[in-house]
Amino acid sequence: MNENLSSCPVCGKSGFSNFLETADYFLTNEPFSIQKCNDCGFKFVNPRPDIREIGRYYQSDEYISHDAEKAGLVTRLYKIARVFSIRTKFNIVNRYTSSGSILDIGCGTGEFLHYCNSKGYDVSGVEPNEKAGSFAQQVNGIPVTTALGKLDPLTCKFSCITMWHVLEHLHELNESLEQVKSLLLPGGVFIAAVPNSNSWDAAHYGKYWAAYDVPRHLYHFTESSVTILAKNHGFEIVKTVPQKLDAFYVSMLSEKYLTGKTNHVKAFFKGAWSNFMAGIATRGHSSQIFILSVKKT
Ligand SMILES: [Zn+2]
Repeated sequence: MNENLSSCPVCGKSGFSNFLETADYFLTNEPFSIQKCNDCGFKFVNPRPDIREIGRYYQSDEYISHDAEKAGLVTRLYKIARVFSIRTKFNIVNRYTSSGSILDIGCGTGEFLHYCNSKGYDVSGVEPNEKAGSFAQQVNGIPVTTALGKLDPLTCKFSCITMWHVLEHLHELNESLEQVKSLLLPGGVFIAAVPNSNSWDAAHYGKYWAAYDVPRHLYHFTESSVTILAKNHGFEIVKTVPQKLDAFYVSMLSEKYLTGKTNHVKAFFKGAWSNFMAGIATRGHSSQIFILSVKKT
């Protein structure tokens, strides 16, 4: 079933305009509309598949695990990028919370948490995909629950909670943010990475921008919408950090959606240009990491 949002998930107002007609270029080719709130400018898929219906849009092994065994230079580069990405994420976590416990929401197969654990952190994960979650548990030794709501805030507290490209997938956006807040230890940090629909590559590729990724990405954040959302839930943004590799990855997929074929060289230059323009035109990078803390009252 589809569901219609009648109020903006960020500001609660009800006037929307049509922003973009796009399609699920990754899997089903079904068309979807992105609407924009007339009040705060937040963009979201509307109507959208409800929580029962959305499952079938994730039924691709490629989506669950980007590291499927394939031969070739791109796969090798991808693996190198993944190791680099795990270390970059860890360095960010470690900069804002140098010890303690990490909860990674949407932990997938658990490689990031496994690395954090090897550096002395206590780690836990939330992963709704059973296959990925049991891999994290059995191979990487991570305690994993299937839903955020299963963690009791009275007994479970974390010094750092991470969501690496997860927030844009959550039907219960506001409820999840409240749950995150209740699970944070005093002085803890919440780290959320999301695509930035204000980036140069988003404007350049338009409806073919791979990070629209409808209907899996229900929301299309910008720095401004994250700021409002954070404030609504009592968080403040401590720092915004770019995810520069994402500009290349997103451009690679977007080129494919736009032209029907892969062009790594062109995608490389588009990604590099997006990173360059992020600083010049204050658009921000293709993806950004927000470091949030609970605002002291
Ligand atoms: Zn709004």
